[in-house]
Amino acid sequence: MAALNKKTVEDINVSGKKVIARMDFNVPLKDGVITDDKRIREAMKTIKYLADNGAKTILVSHLGRPKGEFNMKYSLAPVAVRISELLGKPVTLAKDVIGEDAKKKADALKNGDVMLLENVRFHAEEELNDKAFSKELASMAEIFVNDAFGTAHRAHSSTAGLADYLPAVCGYLIKKEIEIMGSALSNPARPFVAILGGAKVSDKIGVIESLLDKVDTILIGGGMAYTFEKAKGYEIGKSICENDKLDLANELIEKAKSKKVKLLLPLDSVVADEFKNEAERKTVSCCNVPADMMGMDIGEKTIELFTKEILSAKTIIWNGPMGVFEFENFANGTRQIAKAVAESGAVSIIGGGDSAAAVEILGFADKVTHISTGGGASLEFLEGKVLPGIDVLEDK
Ligand code: AMP
Repeated sequence: MAALNKKTVEDINVSGKKVIARMDFNVPLKDGVITDDKRIREAMKTIKYLADNGAKTILVSHLGRPKGEFNMKYSLAPVAVRISELLGKPVTLAKDVIGEDAKKKADALKNGDVMLLENVRFHAEEELNDKAFSKELASMAEIFVNDAFGTAHRAHSSTAGLADYLPAVCGYLIKKEIEIMGSALSNPARPFVAILGGAKVSDKIGVIESLLDKVDTILIGGGMAYTFEKAKGYEIGKSICENDKLDLANELIEKAKSKKVKLLLPLDSVVADEFKNEAERKTVSCCNVPADMMGMDIGEKTIELFTKEILSAKTIIWNGPMGVFEFENFANGTRQIAKAVAESGAVSIIGGGDSAAAVEILGFADKVTHISTGGGASLEFLEGKVLPGIDVLEDK
């Protein structure tokens, strides 16, 4: 396993110390109820460690996009309740972030207590990585622990700025994410297969470029495949396509050839006359999407082709669904690929975001090696970029 060369909570004495711990509690909510608490569950190991080791813990997170102002819709109140249930003791929620209530509650903490600040994005300064705001946050604590992998690719006040004012270490989730993904990239068992899908090529250019130096095979499905198909001169009808990326798609195909990476595109598509679940649908060869229809999922021949590659893989990285999986009628490709990944026996890493949601919804979550809690962050890590929220932490 690739070791992380950053200090962790275990490398610093937290007993009796005020610890400000940045977590990623950006969970989906429906009518004020948490619909998926994975990110909270993943944060518990660090929270428990801090509480058990006598720290006075001040948790910080963002939730949604409240645009820099207080908005009850984005309150962390349901999160405080859930942490408290999982921890088995009360977790108080401050009414503000750096205001009177937060400071009063932080001062009253006893060893082993845990509190949560309100949504840090109620302050516009957070995303600006404003120094004065970081300093205010830091003034409440003596140690900074970052365990918010999902926002580690953003240099914000609470993800990176705090490290200017406090000793900074990481928690168990960041350590786990980096070590699992790092070891897959640095020393993969082969064949190493990347599966890429989702809506846009433009979001994944960096990751394709970087993976071309590492993997044996790249399988491309989802909406982004049609830009490649069009670049090859195929008829893609009304399918989603980035016309300004056609040259780039051709360049990537050529690069794959020169690096002897097998880059496979769909052979067939399930097409629809409208972008909705109940649309008329049929399967067509990829070269011939009718002019008035759009590709919504990969077809059976593609599933067969991709499955063969996946079943022979020893390491798999997957980012982006194979079709519009939110519509049941177009979820088959993503489901079959998830099933193949689950059955492959390979080390399998699912990037966060939609592919993680798809694997969870389709019921394969417990059959893969690792589902990342960070969509954007895992993509940037796979691209080989430095994640600022990790870069600022103290080296071992
Ligand atoms: P991304 O965030 O780039 O991974 O894209 C995920 C989104 O891509 C999901 O909401 C899918 O519905 C969408 N998607 C996948 N395949 C297609 C397709 N063929 N046409 C349009 N959207 C697609």
